[in-house]
Amino acid sequence: MFKVNDNYLKLPGSYLFSTIGKKVAAYQAANPEKSIIRLGIGDVTQPLAPAIIGSLHHAVDEMADAATFHGYAPDLGYEFLRSAIARNDYANRGCDISADEIFISDGAKSDSGNIQEIFSVDNKVAVCDPVYPVYVDTNVMAGRTGTYDPKTERWSDVIYMPCLAENNFAPELPKETPDMIYLCFPNNPTGSTITKDQLQEWVDYANRVGAVIIYDAAYEAYISEENVPHTIFECQGARTCAIELKSFSKNAGFTGIRLGCTVIPKDLKCGDVSLHALWARRHGTKYNGAPYIIQRAGEAVYSDAGKAQLREQVAYYMNNAKTILNGLREAGYTVSGGVNAPYIWLKTPDKMTSWEFFDYLLENVGVVGTPGSGFGPSGEGYFRLTAFGSYENSVAALERIKKL
Ligand code: PLP
Repeated sequence: MFKVNDNYLKLPGSYLFSTIGKKVAAYQAANPEKSIIRLGIGDVTQPLAPAIIGSLHHAVDEMADAATFHGYAPDLGYEFLRSAIARNDYANRGCDISADEIFISDGAKSDSGNIQEIFSVDNKVAVCDPVYPVYVDTNVMAGRTGTYDPKTERWSDVIYMPCLAENNFAPELPKETPDMIYLCFPNNPTGSTITKDQLQEWVDYANRVGAVIIYDAAYEAYISEENVPHTIFECQGARTCAIELKSFSKNAGFTGIRLGCTVIPKDLKCGDVSLHALWARRHGTKYNGAPYIIQRAGEAVYSDAGKAQLREQVAYYMNNAKTILNGLREAGYTVSGGVNAPYIWLKTPDKMTSWEFFDYLLENVGVVGTPGSGFGPSGEGYFRLTAFGSYENSVAALERIKKL
Protein backbone atom coordinates (compact mmCIF):
# COMPACT_ATOMS: atom_id res chain seq x y z
CA MET A 1 0.00 0.00 0.00
CA PHE A 2 1.45 3.33 -0.92
CA LYS A 3 1.83 6.06 1.66
CA VAL A 4 1.43 9.79 1.29
CA ASN A 5 3.88 12.42 2.47
CA ASP A 6 2.52 13.01 5.99
CA ASN A 7 4.11 16.43 6.11
CA TYR A 8 1.43 17.71 3.74
CA LEU A 9 -1.19 16.73 6.33
CA LYS A 10 0.38 19.14 8.80
CA LEU A 11 -0.45 22.16 6.64
CA PRO A 12 -3.31 24.25 8.03
CA GLY A 13 -6.56 23.50 6.17
CA SER A 14 -7.24 26.60 4.16
CA TYR A 15 -5.00 28.76 2.07
CA LEU A 16 -5.23 32.48 2.90
CA PHE A 17 -6.44 33.59 -0.52
CA SER A 18 -9.05 30.84 -0.82
CA THR A 19 -10.58 31.96 2.51
CA ILE A 20 -10.63 35.53 1.22
CA GLY A 21 -12.19 34.36 -2.07
CA LYS A 22 -14.96 32.51 -0.22
CA LYS A 23 -15.76 35.48 2.04
CA VAL A 24 -15.88 37.89 -0.91
CA ALA A 25 -18.09 35.51 -2.94
CA ALA A 26 -20.51 35.12 -0.02
CA TYR A 27 -20.68 38.90 0.45
CA GLN A 28 -21.28 39.48 -3.27
CA ALA A 29 -24.02 36.81 -3.36
CA ALA A 30 -25.76 38.48 -0.40
CA ASN A 31 -25.26 42.01 -1.80
CA PRO A 32 -25.44 41.72 -5.60
CA GLU A 33 -25.97 45.49 -6.01
CA LYS A 34 -22.75 46.46 -4.19
CA SER A 35 -19.52 47.05 -6.12
CA ILE A 36 -16.36 45.55 -4.64
CA ILE A 37 -12.88 47.05 -4.98
CA ARG A 38 -10.11 44.48 -4.71
CA LEU A 39 -6.84 45.71 -3.26
CA GLY A 40 -5.97 42.31 -1.86
CA ILE A 41 -4.10 39.89 -4.08
CA GLY A 42 -0.56 40.74 -5.19
CA ASP A 43 -1.19 40.22 -8.90
CA VAL A 44 -0.41 42.88 -11.48
CA THR A 45 -3.17 44.36 -13.64
CA GLN A 46 -1.40 46.34 -16.37
CA PRO A 47 -0.98 44.58 -19.77
CA LEU A 48 2.42 43.40 -20.97
CA ALA A 49 4.48 46.26 -22.36
CA PRO A 50 4.60 46.67 -26.18
CA ALA A 51 8.31 45.73 -26.35
CA ILE A 52 7.49 42.40 -24.68
CA ILE A 53 4.46 41.72 -26.86
CA GLY A 54 6.56 42.43 -29.99
CA SER A 55 9.19 39.98 -28.82
CA LEU A 56 6.58 37.31 -28.05
CA HIS A 57 5.08 37.62 -31.57
CA HIS A 58 8.50 37.36 -33.16
CA ALA A 59 9.44 34.29 -31.11
CA VAL A 60 6.14 32.58 -31.96
CA ASP A 61 6.86 33.10 -35.66
CA GLU A 62 10.33 31.62 -35.19
CA MET A 63 8.72 28.44 -33.83
CA ALA A 64 6.76 28.09 -37.09
CA ASP A 65 9.88 27.70 -39.21
CA ALA A 66 12.18 24.64 -39.08
CA ALA A 67 15.23 26.91 -39.49
CA THR A 68 14.45 28.89 -36.32
CA PHE A 69 12.41 26.36 -34.33
CA HIS A 70 13.55 25.69 -30.73
CA GLY A 71 12.97 22.49 -28.79
CA TYR A 72 14.18 21.80 -25.25
CA ALA A 73 15.93 24.79 -23.74
CA PRO A 74 19.52 24.51 -22.46
CA ASP A 75 19.49 23.41 -18.83
CA LEU A 76 20.49 26.77 -17.32
CA GLY A 77 18.28 28.67 -19.76
CA TYR A 78 19.20 30.54 -22.96
CA GLU A 79 22.48 32.41 -22.95
CA PHE A 80 20.90 35.55 -24.47
CA LEU A 81 18.68 35.95 -21.39
CA ARG A 82 21.27 34.94 -18.78
CA SER A 83 23.76 37.45 -20.28
CA ALA A 84 21.15 40.23 -20.28
CA ILE A 85 20.41 39.56 -16.59
CA ALA A 86 24.10 39.31 -15.66
CA ARG A 87 24.89 42.58 -17.42
CA ASN A 88 21.88 44.68 -16.40
CA ASP A 89 21.04 43.41 -12.92
CA TYR A 90 24.55 42.57 -11.72
CA ALA A 91 27.53 43.97 -13.69
CA ASN A 92 25.87 47.41 -14.06
CA ARG A 93 25.45 47.47 -10.26
CA GLY A 94 29.06 46.47 -9.71
CA CYS A 95 28.17 42.89 -8.67
CA ASP A 96 30.31 39.92 -9.57
CA ILE A 97 27.78 37.44 -10.97
CA SER A 98 28.39 35.70 -14.28
CA ALA A 99 25.79 34.43 -16.75
CA ASP A 100 26.59 30.81 -15.92
CA GLU A 101 25.64 31.38 -12.27
CA ILE A 102 22.08 32.23 -13.33
CA PHE A 103 19.48 29.46 -13.67
CA ILE A 104 16.34 30.49 -15.58
CA SER A 105 13.09 29.29 -14.02
CA ASP A 106 9.34 29.60 -14.39
CA GLY A 107 9.17 32.04 -11.48
CA ALA A 108 10.36 32.76 -7.97
CA LYS A 109 7.56 30.84 -6.31
CA SER A 110 8.55 27.46 -7.75
CA ASP A 111 12.21 28.00 -7.01
CA SER A 112 11.60 29.31 -3.48
CA GLY A 113 9.96 25.97 -2.85
CA ASN A 114 12.22 23.75 -4.92
CA ILE A 115 15.51 25.20 -3.68
CA GLN A 116 15.16 23.67 -0.23
CA GLU A 117 15.38 20.19 -1.80
CA ILE A 118 19.15 20.54 -2.01
CA PHE A 119 19.39 21.11 1.76
CA SER A 120 19.29 18.55 4.55
CA VAL A 121 16.00 18.04 6.31
CA ASP A 122 17.89 18.63 9.59
CA ASN A 123 18.60 22.27 8.79
CA LYS A 124 17.04 24.89 11.02
CA VAL A 125 15.12 27.54 9.10
CA ALA A 126 14.74 31.21 10.05
CA VAL A 127 12.08 33.41 8.48
CA CYS A 128 10.99 37.01 8.76
CA ASP A 129 7.62 37.27 10.46
CA PRO A 130 5.41 38.26 8.67
CA VAL A 131 6.52 37.19 5.21
CA TYR A 132 5.45 35.52 1.95
CA PRO A 133 4.04 32.21 3.28
CA VAL A 134 5.65 29.97 0.66
CA TYR A 135 8.97 29.72 2.53
CA VAL A 136 7.39 28.14 5.61
CA ASP A 137 4.82 26.08 3.69
CA THR A 138 7.42 24.41 1.49
CA ASN A 139 9.62 23.63 4.48
CA VAL A 140 6.56 22.10 6.17
CA MET A 141 6.10 19.84 3.12
CA ALA A 142 9.76 18.85 3.38
CA GLY A 143 9.41 17.94 7.08
CA ARG A 144 11.75 20.62 8.39
CA THR A 145 9.32 22.47 10.66
CA GLY A 146 8.20 20.24 13.57
CA THR A 147 4.61 20.62 14.74
CA TYR A 148 2.14 23.47 14.41
CA ASP A 149 0.61 25.12 17.45
CA PRO A 150 -2.72 26.68 16.40
CA LYS A 151 -2.73 28.85 19.54
CA THR A 152 0.54 30.61 18.82
CA GLU A 153 0.29 29.97 15.04
CA ARG A 154 3.92 28.89 15.09
CA TRP A 155 5.83 25.80 13.96
CA SER A 156 8.01 24.30 16.66
CA ASP A 157 11.28 24.08 14.69
CA VAL A 158 11.14 27.41 12.87
CA ILE A 159 13.00 30.50 14.05
CA TYR A 160 10.62 33.44 13.65
CA MET A 161 12.25 36.86 13.32
CA PRO A 162 9.56 39.40 14.22
CA CYS A 163 9.35 42.43 11.93
CA LEU A 164 7.35 44.97 13.88
CA ALA A 165 6.96 48.75 14.09
CA GLU A 166 9.51 48.72 16.96
CA ASN A 167 12.27 47.49 14.66
CA ASN A 168 11.06 49.33 11.55
CA PHE A 169 9.76 46.01 10.17
CA ALA A 170 13.33 44.73 9.74
CA PRO A 171 14.47 41.48 11.38
CA GLU A 172 17.15 41.37 14.06
CA LEU A 173 19.86 38.71 14.08
CA PRO A 174 18.30 35.66 15.76
CA LYS A 175 19.42 34.44 19.20
CA GLU A 176 19.30 30.82 18.06
CA THR A 177 21.64 30.05 15.15
CA PRO A 178 19.83 29.06 11.93
CA ASP A 179 21.21 27.06 9.00
CA MET A 180 18.95 28.56 6.34
CA ILE A 181 17.79 32.17 6.48
CA TYR A 182 15.02 33.45 4.24
CA LEU A 183 15.15 37.20 3.63
CA CYS A 184 12.78 39.07 1.33
CA PHE A 185 13.34 42.78 0.62
CA PRO A 186 11.40 44.79 -0.33
CA ASN A 187 9.24 42.66 1.90
CA ASN A 188 5.89 41.15 1.13
CA PRO A 189 3.61 42.00 3.00
CA THR A 190 5.11 44.90 5.00
CA GLY A 191 6.67 46.74 2.05
CA SER A 192 9.69 47.38 4.30
CA THR A 193 13.33 47.37 3.18
CA ILE A 194 16.73 47.26 4.82
CA THR A 195 19.76 49.37 3.95
CA LYS A 196 22.86 48.00 2.28
CA ASP A 197 24.73 48.27 5.62
CA GLN A 198 22.03 46.27 7.37
CA LEU A 199 22.09 43.61 4.66
CA GLN A 200 25.89 43.51 4.93
CA GLU A 201 25.45 42.60 8.63
CA TRP A 202 23.32 39.62 7.57
CA VAL A 203 25.92 38.51 5.03
CA ASP A 204 28.71 38.80 7.61
CA TYR A 205 26.58 36.89 10.14
CA ALA A 206 25.76 34.09 7.65
CA ASN A 207 29.43 33.69 6.72
CA ARG A 208 30.38 33.66 10.42
CA VAL A 209 27.86 30.99 11.51
CA GLY A 210 27.93 28.95 8.28
CA ALA A 211 24.34 29.67 7.27
CA VAL A 212 22.94 30.15 3.78
CA ILE A 213 20.73 33.15 2.97
CA ILE A 214 17.95 32.62 0.47
CA TYR A 215 17.30 36.17 -0.68
CA ASP A 216 14.05 36.94 -2.49
CA ALA A 217 14.44 40.03 -4.66
CA ALA A 218 11.05 39.75 -6.40
CA TYR A 219 10.19 43.41 -5.72
CA GLU A 220 13.56 45.08 -6.33
CA ALA A 221 12.21 47.10 -9.29
CA TYR A 222 10.12 49.13 -6.84
CA ILE A 223 13.07 50.42 -4.82
CA SER A 224 13.23 54.20 -4.94
CA GLU A 225 15.69 54.99 -2.13
CA GLU A 226 19.43 55.19 -2.80
CA ASN A 227 20.74 53.24 0.19
CA VAL A 228 18.48 50.21 -0.38
CA PRO A 229 20.23 47.33 -2.18
CA HIS A 230 18.65 45.81 -5.30
CA THR A 231 20.48 42.53 -4.85
CA ILE A 232 22.28 40.78 -2.00
CA PHE A 233 25.33 40.55 -4.27
CA GLU A 234 25.94 44.26 -3.65
CA CYS A 235 27.31 43.07 -0.29
CA GLN A 236 30.90 41.91 0.23
CA GLY A 237 31.11 38.17 0.86
CA ALA A 238 27.63 37.30 -0.43
CA ARG A 239 29.12 34.93 -3.01
CA THR A 240 29.98 32.45 -0.24
CA CYS A 241 26.65 32.53 1.60
CA ALA A 242 23.75 33.62 -0.60
CA ILE A 243 21.29 32.39 -3.18
CA GLU A 244 19.07 34.98 -4.87
CA LEU A 245 15.59 34.45 -6.25
CA LYS A 246 14.41 36.79 -9.00
CA SER A 247 11.07 37.17 -10.70
CA PHE A 248 9.77 38.87 -13.85
CA SER A 249 6.27 38.98 -12.35
CA LYS A 250 6.22 42.27 -10.51
CA ASN A 251 8.69 44.35 -12.56
CA ALA A 252 7.38 43.28 -15.98
CA GLY A 253 3.93 41.73 -15.51
CA PHE A 254 4.89 38.10 -16.25
CA THR A 255 2.55 36.60 -13.61
CA GLY A 256 0.55 34.86 -16.34
CA ILE A 257 3.40 33.85 -18.64
CA ARG A 258 5.93 32.89 -15.91
CA LEU A 259 9.62 33.72 -15.80
CA GLY A 260 12.20 34.05 -13.06
CA CYS A 261 15.71 32.97 -12.21
CA THR A 262 17.81 31.73 -9.33
CA VAL A 263 21.38 32.87 -8.84
CA ILE A 264 23.79 30.46 -7.20
CA PRO A 265 27.41 31.66 -7.14
CA LYS A 266 30.05 29.03 -7.76
CA ASP A 267 31.76 30.04 -4.48
CA LEU A 268 28.78 28.87 -2.42
CA LYS A 269 29.90 25.58 -0.91
CA CYS A 270 29.04 23.22 1.93
CA GLY A 271 32.49 21.74 2.69
CA ASP A 272 33.64 20.56 -0.74
CA VAL A 273 30.16 20.35 -2.19
CA SER A 274 29.18 23.06 -4.66
CA LEU A 275 25.54 24.13 -4.39
CA HIS A 276 25.73 25.32 -7.98
CA ALA A 277 26.54 21.74 -9.03
CA LEU A 278 23.71 20.31 -6.92
CA TRP A 279 21.18 22.75 -8.40
CA ALA A 280 22.34 21.81 -11.89
CA ARG A 281 20.78 18.39 -11.14
CA ARG A 282 17.47 19.88 -9.93
CA HIS A 283 14.09 18.37 -10.81
CA GLY A 284 12.86 19.20 -14.23
CA THR A 285 16.16 20.32 -15.70
CA LYS A 286 15.39 21.14 -19.34
CA TYR A 287 11.64 20.56 -18.99
CA ASN A 288 10.60 22.68 -16.06
CA GLY A 289 12.06 26.07 -16.89
CA ALA A 290 10.58 28.71 -19.13
CA PRO A 291 9.87 28.11 -22.84
CA TYR A 292 12.01 29.75 -25.56
CA ILE A 293 9.20 32.19 -26.40
CA ILE A 294 9.00 33.41 -22.81
CA GLN A 295 12.76 33.70 -22.47
CA ARG A 296 12.78 35.92 -25.58
CA ALA A 297 10.08 38.03 -23.91
CA GLY A 298 12.34 38.24 -20.86
CA GLU A 299 15.20 39.47 -23.05
CA ALA A 300 12.95 42.33 -24.24
CA VAL A 301 12.63 43.52 -20.62
CA TYR A 302 16.27 44.64 -20.92
CA SER A 303 15.93 46.40 -24.31
CA ASP A 304 15.93 50.22 -24.23
CA ALA A 305 12.24 50.33 -25.17
CA GLY A 306 11.40 47.61 -22.63
CA LYS A 307 13.24 49.41 -19.83
CA ALA A 308 11.47 52.71 -20.57
CA GLN A 309 8.02 51.10 -20.78
CA LEU A 310 8.52 49.13 -17.58
CA ARG A 311 9.78 52.18 -15.69
CA GLU A 312 6.43 53.76 -16.57
CA GLN A 313 4.51 50.72 -15.38
CA VAL A 314 6.31 50.62 -12.04
CA ALA A 315 5.74 54.39 -11.69
CA TYR A 316 2.03 53.85 -12.35
CA TYR A 317 1.75 51.31 -9.52
CA MET A 318 3.88 53.44 -7.20
CA ASN A 319 1.62 56.43 -7.84
CA ASN A 320 -1.24 54.21 -6.64
CA ALA A 321 0.86 53.33 -3.59
CA LYS A 322 1.39 57.01 -2.84
CA THR A 323 -2.33 57.72 -3.24
CA ILE A 324 -3.25 54.91 -0.85
CA LEU A 325 -0.51 55.74 1.64
CA ASN A 326 -1.31 59.47 1.81
CA GLY A 327 -5.07 58.85 1.84
CA LEU A 328 -4.79 56.42 4.74
CA ARG A 329 -2.57 58.84 6.67
CA GLU A 330 -5.09 61.64 6.16
CA ALA A 331 -7.79 59.29 7.45
CA GLY A 332 -5.76 58.79 10.62
CA TYR A 333 -4.35 55.29 10.02
CA THR A 334 -0.87 54.23 11.06
CA VAL A 335 0.76 53.10 7.81
CA SER A 336 4.13 52.02 6.46
CA GLY A 337 5.58 50.54 3.25
CA GLY A 338 4.49 51.93 -0.11
CA VAL A 339 7.77 53.78 -0.81
CA ASN A 340 10.05 51.00 -2.07
CA ALA A 341 7.30 48.43 -2.61
CA PRO A 342 3.77 48.19 -4.00
CA TYR A 343 2.48 47.15 -0.56
CA ILE A 344 0.95 49.34 2.11
CA TRP A 345 0.94 47.92 5.62
CA LEU A 346 -1.49 49.39 8.08
CA LYS A 347 -2.16 48.91 11.75
CA THR A 348 -5.77 47.92 12.29
CA PRO A 349 -7.70 50.57 14.22
CA ASP A 350 -9.34 50.03 17.63
CA LYS A 351 -7.34 46.86 18.33
CA MET A 352 -9.32 44.92 15.73
CA THR A 353 -7.78 41.61 14.68
CA SER A 354 -6.65 41.34 11.06
CA TRP A 355 -9.73 39.29 10.11
CA GLU A 356 -12.10 41.59 12.02
CA PHE A 357 -10.75 44.50 10.01
CA PHE A 358 -11.09 42.47 6.80
CA ASP A 359 -14.81 41.90 7.54
CA TYR A 360 -15.28 45.53 8.64
CA LEU A 361 -13.86 46.91 5.38
CA LEU A 362 -15.71 44.43 3.18
CA GLU A 363 -19.08 44.78 4.90
CA ASN A 364 -19.05 48.55 5.33
CA VAL A 365 -17.36 49.83 2.18
CA GLY A 366 -16.84 46.82 -0.11
CA VAL A 367 -13.03 47.08 -0.10
CA VAL A 368 -10.99 43.87 -0.05
CA GLY A 369 -7.51 43.71 1.42
CA THR A 370 -5.42 40.97 3.00
CA PRO A 371 -5.34 40.19 6.73
CA GLY A 372 -1.80 40.54 8.03
CA SER A 373 -2.11 37.43 10.20
CA GLY A 374 -2.12 35.35 7.00
CA PHE A 375 1.58 36.15 6.61
CA GLY A 376 2.71 35.00 10.05
CA PRO A 377 1.90 35.48 13.74
CA SER A 378 3.50 38.94 13.94
CA GLY A 379 1.15 40.10 11.17
CA GLU A 380 -1.78 39.95 13.59
CA GLY A 381 -3.29 43.39 14.05
CA TYR A 382 -2.06 44.50 10.64
CA PHE A 383 -3.56 44.63 7.16
CA ARG A 384 -2.09 44.75 3.64
CA LEU A 385 -3.37 46.84 0.74
CA THR A 386 -1.71 46.58 -2.66
CA ALA A 387 -1.00 49.18 -5.32
CA PHE A 388 -1.51 46.73 -8.19
CA GLY A 389 -5.07 47.86 -8.96
CA SER A 390 -6.01 50.72 -11.27
CA TYR A 391 -5.49 54.34 -10.25
CA GLU A 392 -9.27 54.91 -10.39
CA ASN A 393 -9.88 52.00 -8.01
CA SER A 394 -7.14 53.13 -5.63
CA VAL A 395 -8.75 56.59 -5.43
CA ALA A 396 -12.26 55.15 -5.09
CA ALA A 397 -11.18 52.73 -2.34
CA LEU A 398 -9.66 55.59 -0.37
CA GLU A 399 -12.77 57.73 -0.74
CA ARG A 400 -14.79 54.87 0.70
CA ILE A 401 -12.35 54.23 3.56
CA LYS A 402 -12.31 57.93 4.49
CA LYS A 403 -16.09 57.79 5.00
CA LEU A 404 -15.82 55.08 7.65
N1 PLP B 1 8.34 36.13 -3.94
C1 PLP B 1 7.54 36.95 -3.28
C2 PLP B 1 8.05 37.65 -2.09
C3 PLP B 1 6.22 37.15 -3.70
O1 PLP B 1 5.42 37.98 -3.02
C4 PLP B 1 5.74 36.47 -4.83
C5 PLP B 1 4.36 36.62 -5.30
O2 PLP B 1 3.51 37.26 -4.77
C6 PLP B 1 6.62 35.62 -5.49
C7 PLP B 1 7.91 35.46 -5.03
C8 PLP B 1 6.16 34.85 -6.68
O3 PLP B 1 6.86 35.22 -7.80
P1 PLP B 1 6.62 34.48 -9.17
O4 PLP B 1 5.37 35.03 -9.79
O5 PLP B 1 7.84 34.77 -9.96
O6 PLP B 1 6.48 33.02 -8.89
